[in-house]
Amino acid sequence: MISFFSSGIRLEQQKSRTMKAKILALPAPQVLYVPLPGAQALADRCVRAGETVLRFSQLSMPGSHVAVTSPVSGTVTGFQALPHPVRGAVECAVIRQDGAEQELALRAPGMEHTPDGLVRLAAAAGIIDEYDGIPLFKKLKRLRRMKIDWLGANVLDDEPYVCSGLAVLRENPQGVQKGLELAALAVGAQKTGVAVVSGFRARSYSRVSGRIADLLVGSGGRYPARPGLLKRLRREGHRPGLIGVQALEAFAQAAERGIPQTTTVVTVAGEGVSRWQNLRVPLGMPIEDLLSACGRKKRTAVIAGSPITGNRVEELCAPVTADLRCLIVLPEAMQTVKVFPCIGCGKCEAACPVGIMPWDIYRRLAGQEYPDAGQLLRADLCCACNACSVVCPSGLDLSGSVARAMEIKERG
Ligand code: SF4
Ligand code: SF4
Repeated sequence: MISFFSSGIRLEQQKSRTMKAKILALPAPQVLYVPLPGAQALADRCVRAGETVLRFSQLSMPGSHVAVTSPVSGTVTGFQALPHPVRGAVECAVIRQDGAEQELALRAPGMEHTPDGLVRLAAAAGIIDEYDGIPLFKKLKRLRRMKIDWLGANVLDDEPYVCSGLAVLRENPQGVQKGLELAALAVGAQKTGVAVVSGFRARSYSRVSGRIADLLVGSGGRYPARPGLLKRLRREGHRPGLIGVQALEAFAQAAERGIPQTTTVVTVAGEGVSRWQNLRVPLGMPIEDLLSACGRKKRTAVIAGSPITGNRVEELCAPVTADLRCLIVLPEAMQTVKVFPCIGCGKCEAACPVGIMPWDIYRRLAGQEYPDAGQLLRADLCCACNACSVVCPSGLDLSGSVARAMEIKERG
């Protein structure tokens, strides 16, 4: 069921069934396909095929991306490019684990808690912001350049089914708080908060930590939550920034225990699985292992990321990456979409959080004339939330039209 607002939409959330259980940690499978983002060149890799590695051994260290470490001890049997629903294709190190669970000696905890030292720590610990896939060290540098004064833990699980961020906040509020304090020190923010979509019982999830509960900032329960929340904070005089709650938890762990990020929490839910669950899994675990653990039914389709903006998973051997927040499994029949002409209902315009008229852009692009770039109003403000396409009763791909309009406008 969808309700309409002057900006954004309210979607039936489908989270409570998943949130009934605690996060379940899955053991690493026999073979992992650990993604090596940014490490296309041989020189970016720290290991060769045939080498043995310990848990936390460095696998790659590209100059422009984060270091990647092994989640298990075992043997690197080779390298392989695998299809991925979010990233297209990813280069992976194939590691056959030996079950010995030997760890590389941890770096000394408490290292260099200066702004620059913390940025280096985020890069060395391989931390990725799960909401946008941006390496944490790059985000810290960018937020510092922007001179933000308010830093929030991003727990904006505003799409249906997705609740991996809420689950992490509920189970480790102290870790989130610690990571937030360190990130605030790194970027120079004086104030911190926790950004949640109100109405998801987030206050009760975080009640164990009085400090975090005092800092919660709700966003009104709409999708997309982020533009409205940032607008509100700016109206209140802040220069705000957000960092994913899982990245903050990993940051605290790196600072306090010297442990790099080798796991992530993924929501697996939908009518196509018998158990709806938040799973903590090692990076590089094949997606099909998560689906098996949740009892995937026959004749189902799998969507990665979000039911609103996510992509269909074509190859179930695709590995888990740090920005895979959710897998939604639906019966095949629910995937059929029929398309009709625009009926001029205006719902897409009402749903858009940044004031774009998607119907107008769609009609201009659907016409055979090359549109006047000047008339593709505000297309460059699009945040790709896909709300316009979701509400369109004609089933039109409006966000795709707006993305094309943005390209045309950029080209002038
Ligand atoms: S995808 Fe773009 S145009 Fe569509 S609702 Fe979101 S911001 Fe507006
Ligand atoms: S929601 Fe769809 S049918 Fe309604 S005005 Fe927008 S494009 Fe047209």
